[in-house]
Amino acid sequence: MDKNFQEEFTQIIKFEPPLYKQRHQFIKDLVEKYKPKKVADLGCADCSLLWMLKFCSCIEVLAGLDICANVMREKMHKLSPLPVDYLQPSERSLTVTLHHGSVAHKDPCMLGFDLVTCIELIEHLEESELKKFPEVVFGFMAPSIVVISTPNSEFNPLLSRVMLYRHPDHKFEWSQAQFQSWALETARCYGYSVEFTGVGHPPTGMEKVGFCTQIGVFFRKYPQTGESVQSEEPTEAVYKTVFKAVYPSLKDEKYLQNAVISEVIFTAQIIKHRLMSKREEYGDDPERKSKFQLSVDCFPDYLGKPVVEKNMEPFVSGNEAYIPLTTIFSFPKVNRLCGTFERLRKLIAGKVTLSSDGSALMFNIEHENEEN
Ligand code: SAH
Repeated sequence: MDKNFQEEFTQIIKFEPPLYKQRHQFIKDLVEKYKPKKVADLGCADCSLLWMLKFCSCIEVLAGLDICANVMREKMHKLSPLPVDYLQPSERSLTVTLHHGSVAHKDPCMLGFDLVTCIELIEHLEESELKKFPEVVFGFMAPSIVVISTPNSEFNPLLSRVMLYRHPDHKFEWSQAQFQSWALETARCYGYSVEFTGVGHPPTGMEKVGFCTQIGVFFRKYPQTGESVQSEEPTEAVYKTVFKAVYPSLKDEKYLQNAVISEVIFTAQIIKHRLMSKREEYGDDPERKSKFQLSVDCFPDYLGKPVVEKNMEPFVSGNEAYIPLTTIFSFPKVNRLCGTFERLRKLIAGKVTLSSDGSALMFNIEHENEEN
């Protein structure tokens, strides 16, 4: 490399966004493309990638592993559910777990993942750990996709203040040829294909140097058969769980029931409100007023469009307003939450006041009659 050219760039290379953010964005884009449900981040450090991934709606299981428990503990509270997660439980389930342990050891808690990320991890491994790493990740965990990123040593002369390695804890830094030959051999051994890419573009005219961070994306070639999973020797748990958060989800009956009851009461209140104001228009006719029926014509947009049949129409009889469950069920949000009418009945049983035949929600309107 021309020394003057090199010195010129050493002064100006600054990545925007910063390189670590580009690496994390790369993973986020990959998740959005392949939609894995279970993702494990090995060498997760302060959990910043995991925190970013918890917002990807396809992910239901997130796990982090690091040999340093303290670095994980620093910010792990950020992985806990927020009050808003309880107020508005999500439709997906999400469990986030952090384990303390080494990628050189197998633990059954790391089985069943779709995507495993190892961002700037391998260069921190001792020779003996690096030897065991492929068998643990590709042989034992065997996810559909593995992403490994590591510094590209050919880029180092372009970075200011890099003496031997980019970080004092790095045990090695590989050129593109070194990384690619290791990755191709690993992929071959364990039945994966590998694609090379990276983040942190080299300056124009220096493309040969390659990306600042080199990345290998490994794809398992063959689906895992039930047989190969079962023939696996039973492995003892060696990792220690240091954090676990189960997010409130509508897949959990208790949160679903609360959400359904709130939505049912909210919907019924709006219908009742419409019923009462329509009824007002017949103010002087006590006969019509006491047995009044509302045709469900215009409901506010946020309730969605109901599919209402004639016999499902809400009505007032005496001091009671009757809102048929079938009407409530026909509103899209209630419908989507419950799935079936039977399920709606089951979820609200004993939690709301129903007419004697159980077909309608009942509201006493005596108070409202007095007011009018
Ligand atoms: N992946 C993170 C940080 C990488 S730094 C990021 O993208 O920013 C490397 C991390 O690997 C450190 O947190 C270090 O504690 C961890 N580590 C080193 N050796 C390990 C091993 N044998 N098993 C698991 N984690 C290890």
